[in-house]
Amino acid sequence: MSVATTAAGSAADATAADPTAQPGAYDRADWASAFRNVGLELDDVPLTAARGTIPAELQGTLYRNGPGRLERGGQWVHHPFDGDGMITALRFEGGQATLRNRFVRTEGWQAEEQAGRFVYRGVFGTQKPGGPLANAFDLRLKNIANTHVVRLGDQLLALWEAAEPHALDPDTLETRGLSRLDGLLKPGEAFSAHPRFDPGHHGARRMVTFGVKAGPRSTIRLMEFAAGDGPDGVKAGDLLCERRDSFKGFAFLHDFAITPNWAVFLQNAIDFNPLPYVLGQQGAAQCLKSRPGGMGQFWLIPRESGAFAGQEPQILPAPEGFVFHHLNAFEQADGTVVLESIVYSDFPSIGPGTDFREVDFERIPEGLLERFTLDPVAGSVSRERLSERTCEFAMVNPHRVGLEARHAWMAVAERATGNDPLQALIRRDLQTGEVREWSAAPRGFVSEPVMVPRPGGTSEHDGWLLCVVWNGARCSSDLVILDAASMEQVAVVELPLAIPHGLHGSFVEG
Ligand code: FE
Repeated sequence: MSVATTAAGSAADATAADPTAQPGAYDRADWASAFRNVGLELDDVPLTAARGTIPAELQGTLYRNGPGRLERGGQWVHHPFDGDGMITALRFEGGQATLRNRFVRTEGWQAEEQAGRFVYRGVFGTQKPGGPLANAFDLRLKNIANTHVVRLGDQLLALWEAAEPHALDPDTLETRGLSRLDGLLKPGEAFSAHPRFDPGHHGARRMVTFGVKAGPRSTIRLMEFAAGDGPDGVKAGDLLCERRDSFKGFAFLHDFAITPNWAVFLQNAIDFNPLPYVLGQQGAAQCLKSRPGGMGQFWLIPRESGAFAGQEPQILPAPEGFVFHHLNAFEQADGTVVLESIVYSDFPSIGPGTDFREVDFERIPEGLLERFTLDPVAGSVSRERLSERTCEFAMVNPHRVGLEARHAWMAVAERATGNDPLQALIRRDLQTGEVREWSAAPRGFVSEPVMVPRPGGTSEHDGWLLCVVWNGARCSSDLVILDAASMEQVAVVELPLAIPHGLHGSFVEG
């Protein structure tokens, strides 16, 4: 893995990505070796940097979530998204770091630990042993709490978008249980795995999130929570405002974006045919299919504290393509809304017969960064592609969420075009297109990078980029700390834990 050498871990301009690199320049066995069970739960293990130095100013905890259990009783999950949520906490203080990890004690995890086999069906196609007959009409959802982890008030929330969050102790990672947020959520109510943290557009910091009730008409419940204690007795975690809006069609919404005045959704042109799911032949998510010739829609929902509070949503036509994740959104002086998103040419459906470890990257669409400009008055939308390089997991400086940001950090494929696993991290200057890069190729595979601003920093790119990297040479995980401005390597910590390819995480200062 190249992080083992200073030269391969150095920063470079985007043009340094080798345009002659062939698909398969990585070893598929290295990539697939990250699909494994986590067999350890560690308690505050002290870490030392194998290379470089952990910055003394870096103070707080990086929480990561992702599937940690992919096999039971010799049966593999059909898709890694069906793996049970495992939280990793990396704490930094005074140049020292420790690691703790825990599985989320969901009802499903506990039952399956006891049974030694799958006793629930997975949304992404994992079936219980015994074939369709054993699975038909079993419509229980296994809330696996594996998608994201955020701090709200005195608890961590392990998120999974189709049902309630699980509450965890932020220090011990002990599972407190399924949380209905003090009765706010009904049993089983959907609660997105993609909250956005408003840095203070309406005073104090807020967590803005949503839940979707999908059907022939779909309802979005938009909720805003206080992220910290405030005046007038407001406590962190208190619901400040909410609204519900219904739209025609089946809504598949994984993520959204916020501006001071809008919550911005992209409704993909997706249909849901539940029959194979009900009959025990497929997982629910496998029954999602793109609608041939169908067009998506942008839904702009006015935020209750914004200038358009109480008004109806604006609906605008969306171009072809499919979006899981957005980078950011912001408003321009003329009232237009800019949304930056990672766009796929089509919905990457999960075939019933494919082994996820054998996926042919060449045959599935890649994510590309695009910018949409939405004009709510004229009802028009324009579209611009910002890069041809495969990317995912993008973010801006947390202080710029909802505002125009100069810089974006994201995971990218090693070569300049074509679909491959994510092996490099970049900072992209959104104004000039300049790119600074750090690569873990050929044997390293990156996960979602998290940008942490330097305390008291004055420029938007002043801080660090934290990333858990799968080290194919060690068959284990490394924590990589980069300088967020230069993308130079600051430290590599070889973790005593092998963490499968993960999903989302967040940094909590303090
Ligand atoms: Fe996501």
